Amino acid sequence: MKYLVTGGLGFIGSNFIKSISSNCSQILNIDKNTYASNDPKHCQKNLNNISNVSFCLSDQDKINKAVIDFNPDIIVNFAAESHVDRSIESPKNFIESNIISTFNLLESFRALLKKKNNLKKMIHISTDEVYGSLKESDPAFTENSLINPSSPYAASKSSSDLLVKSWFKTYGIPVIITNCSNNYGPFQNPEKLIPNIIYKIINNLPIEIYGDGKNVRDWIYVEDHINAIKEVIQKGEVGETYNIGGECELSNNEIAKILIKKTSESLSLDENKIIRNINYVTDRPGHDFRYAMNISKIKSEIGWSPKYKFEVGIDATLNWYINYFNSDWFDKKNDFKRVGVIN
Ligand code: NAD
Repeated sequence: MKYLVTGGLGFIGSNFIKSISSNCSQILNIDKNTYASNDPKHCQKNLNNISNVSFCLSDQDKINKAVIDFNPDIIVNFAAESHVDRSIESPKNFIESNIISTFNLLESFRALLKKKNNLKKMIHISTDEVYGSLKESDPAFTENSLINPSSPYAASKSSSDLLVKSWFKTYGIPVIITNCSNNYGPFQNPEKLIPNIIYKIINNLPIEIYGDGKNVRDWIYVEDHINAIKEVIQKGEVGETYNIGGECELSNNEIAKILIKKTSESLSLDENKIIRNINYVTDRPGHDFRYAMNISKIKSEIGWSPKYKFEVGIDATLNWYINYFNSDWFDKKNDFKRVGVIN
């Protein structure tokens, strides 16, 4: 099988490539190589069936040529600008990378379908944020929930999902959309909540939390997300959308408490001193209160469910960051200090 992956140097894409590389013949990874991407020397160590090409998917000619020359069996589209705070600060990049780029990709697949091709499925990776915000007592989002984005990031992902749906209905592009909740795990940029808090704890810095810290997210270990995508590639039905989630709702306060306890135990730090470093900052505009995913559809139709308990996934994640914050992987990540906290 030949896989065309976009955004495969980012957090989730790089974990995906690592996971599929031993079971496929060739992978072509197209990535703009932004501040969010990882160096292949870290995330693709000992993997040898991958070609990385670096360009922006807003370049229609380049993407057309790459898709037609490579003629993939499977396409997985991870590429996106993914940080909500940055989308509030400069939304234009999000329109270009999340909407125009998805349009360009779809158009290149349309051109591919007109030729002799191998394309079986395209998986478009999206987020629970397209559904907007839940109140504490609301039922979790289903695949039929209203698309009701709050941030420019969520609006750009919603727009790309709608383009993908319509290219299926109008042109027959064999697409599947997956909407997943908040991921955590190795290779995530430290501008995101979990690695950000770990970094601040280790370095005895103020731990900034938006508002009152009661915002709730549904957390999933990245390996569970990757396994879900692999199952969707095997068994998912084209034209369908599948929600993916970890069935693990935690508030930002709860996340901070767990990380402070575990990190101080691991590194013999003074837990009470670190708790005093928590600093509640002015809330982000349009900050969604709660996300939660109803994952009955993927469970019953595909047979996938998350297998990592949060305590297990977070221990593996914590150990990874403790090692990697001291490595040259981290050198490229210093830009995260410019922005605050997230999600
Ligand atoms: P990331 O920011 O870590 O990585 C994104 C990658 O895409 C980077 O390597 C970047 O260089 C590349 N990219 C961005 N714009 C590009 C462009 N115009 N052309 C080519 N490459 C480009 O993101 P992530 O956290 O790995 O997220 C991957 C996908 O999963 C995104 O579509 C995101 O919306 C979705 N998602 C993420 C989460 C999460 O918790 N991280 C949850 C649900 C869905």
